[in-house]
Amino acid sequence: MGNLVVATVSIVLLVSGPDGFTESRERMVKHQIQARGVRDAQVLKAMRDTPRHLFVPEKLRSHAYEDTPLPIGFGQTISQPYIVAAMTELLDVEPGHRVLEIGTGSGYQAAVLSPLVREVFSMEIVEDLAKSAALTLRQTGCSNVSVRYGDGYKGWPEKAPFDRIILTAAPPEIPQALFDQLVPGGKLVAPVGSSPLNQELVVVDKGRDGKLKRRTVFPVRFVPMVTNN
Ligand code: SAH
Repeated sequence: MGNLVVATVSIVLLVSGPDGFTESRERMVKHQIQARGVRDAQVLKAMRDTPRHLFVPEKLRSHAYEDTPLPIGFGQTISQPYIVAAMTELLDVEPGHRVLEIGTGSGYQAAVLSPLVREVFSMEIVEDLAKSAALTLRQTGCSNVSVRYGDGYKGWPEKAPFDRIILTAAPPEIPQALFDQLVPGGKLVAPVGSSPLNQELVVVDKGRDGKLKRRTVFPVRFVPMVTNN
């Protein structure tokens, strides 16, 4: 019982209390994110509130708010904070939305989306990453995020359709299954390219008539989206 109380108190502190990184996050938002043009107040608030240091390996915590991606094991990385903010802004979410993410990684992008939408469904192809991200998301109180170990090329048909889809690993082409799982009027944001040196961030709008309209935003560098087929 005593242990339970201690555990509960520490989880509450972890989620809402001062964590020693509030000022670092404030600086990150001002100098890395607002300075580069991200304006959406809700996105900026989510970036201010999400404890990025809890999504990186313990020995890298002191670097969590720097302007850079960081290794999270298995050859994967947590994206640069600015990219997370810019992609979240481009996704243009609303509070009632159900969002699919491909590439859970550390769980950080899902945690940033969590307060902005109704539900986040996130898929990860490395089983150990899926497990540890699910744990971190639970510990940080992101109760509307579900993580599934699986291949994002197939999407998550049982939970489709989604209002928004975000990819944080780069396929050479966006899989048709993902367009099929997007509602008419929905939006998909993805890095696309056949090599890490040749990728663009792409936004695809699916019209009410089902027609896809695609635009390219800027060059990016993500890990490739792999498949277990
Ligand atoms: N969004 C993450 C960063 C993503 S790194 C974060 O916030 O930390 C890209 C992730 O995509 C890696 O963890 C990689 O294992 C995963 N991935 C690659 N191909 C995938 C696929 N086909 N389906 C699901 N996840 C995939």
